[in-house]
Amino acid sequence: MDFSKSLGKCGFCRKTFGKTEMPKHLAECEKGRAGGSKKRFFQLFVEGRRSPEYWMALAVPASCTLRDLDDYLRKAWLECCGHLSSFEINGKKFQSDDETAGEFGEKTIDVALSKVLSPGLTFFHEYDFGSTTELKLKVISDGAGIEGAAKPVLLARNLPPEISCESCGKKAASVCTACVYRGKGWCCKECAPKHKCGYEMALPVVNSPRAGICGYTGKPR
Ligand SMILES: [Zn+2]
Ligand SMILES: [Zn+2]
Ligand SMILES: [Zn+2]
Ligand SMILES: [Zn+2]
Repeated sequence: MDFSKSLGKCGFCRKTFGKTEMPKHLAECEKGRAGGSKKRFFQLFVEGRRSPEYWMALAVPASCTLRDLDDYLRKAWLECCGHLSSFEINGKKFQSDDETAGEFGEKTIDVALSKVLSPGLTFFHEYDFGSTTELKLKVISDGAGIEGAAKPVLLARNLPPEISCESCGKKAASVCTACVYRGKGWCCKECAPKHKCGYEMALPVVNSPRAGICGYTGKPR
């Protein structure tokens, strides 16, 4: 499927743009705003590695750590039951858990972005090493960002993709945790109780690459 036309909203002007146009638009839209801070920011483009219809653009202060970024990604898209996570940058692993990091000679994620990122770099994030959700991140640019921001700021994000019920074609409301791995199990409200795996296996459809995985509901726990 072609997701390059997947639509999202710019956080500055609230206008809708396609996924491929968005980085260019953000650069222009940001230029048009008066002021801007002197602080160094990275502009990041994040997407599901296997589900590129989910994407967002972030401005992250260069003084933030990978842990700050990990926290943000967990809150926005990933957190279900406190699984481990890691980044892979230039072939090096950075782990969320300090102990395992030491054990395997990997680094921890308590490292400033300014030490590990540079414009043009593509890197990866994994949440939960069992039912893993993989993200691809790209450093679009470094430059000025949002005045006063100390944590990552959302610049743009995809609109919820339209997913249809596999039985009747209406808008899907739930997805089966057993079938989602095969790209199946999407049901509307009426068809969900009739799904073969039972209603207990259903999770709500949420705007996240982790929809239907483990216990992810999109709500903070
Ligand atoms: Zn804009
Ligand atoms: Zn979980
Ligand atoms: Zn249906
Ligand atoms: Zn099922």
